[in-house]
Amino acid sequence: MNSTSIHVAIPGMSLGYALVGEQVVLVDAGASSTQSAQDLLKKAGISPHSVSLIVLTHGHTDHLALLPQLQMLTNAPIMCHKKTAQCLAKGWGEEVVPRTPLFQILSRLTGSQKLKEPISPHILVETPQDLRSFGVNAHVWPTPGHTPGSLSIITENKEALVGDLLMKFPLQRHARASMISHDVSLLQKSLGELQSQDLKSLYLSHGGKILAHELDQAMIEIQSH
Ligand SMILES: [Zn+2]
Repeated sequence: MNSTSIHVAIPGMSLGYALVGEQVVLVDAGASSTQSAQDLLKKAGISPHSVSLIVLTHGHTDHLALLPQLQMLTNAPIMCHKKTAQCLAKGWGEEVVPRTPLFQILSRLTGSQKLKEPISPHILVETPQDLRSFGVNAHVWPTPGHTPGSLSIITENKEALVGDLLMKFPLQRHARASMISHDVSLLQKSLGELQSQDLKSLYLSHGGKILAHELDQAMIEIQSH
């Protein structure tokens, strides 16, 4: 199988990515956008027919805005953790649990996790999944901590898409462990598991691509709290 590369498919404050191999797997569906899913895929050079799967790293609404459009356009199944799916099917995103006072304020500003319509994902995961049958050389791993249903995707090139497990905002010198966490010890455990994968680079939904040493830095920081 050809090697699998990672590209931004949905730009903006919450990035959506494309894993491109023999087929395309989209990861996350971005925050609200003035552009249609069709225009965004066209700009990214992705044919809707080449999309075999849409994976959700978790169920916060700033990762779901274009999901109904993307699903209609590509007709690809939606994969997410079973715990994420349970929320989405009831018409809600996953709960936002801030771990610092600043993020308590910010998360109030970001508003409700209520969806316009319930979403029924097609493939529910609880254990690692091989994505080769979807045309990309990568695996999905449960990495809870940001939310109970958080997933990461690791390619055979040792690159990882980690959703919001780590975040890097403008003016920050390095990425930090997520300030939103339902369970900080689980967040630490998941970050430790990523560390043990000997990754080359990581792709964050908020902050783009970082190198592995920033994960080490974030681990030192979270362990000292
Ligand atoms: Zn999130």
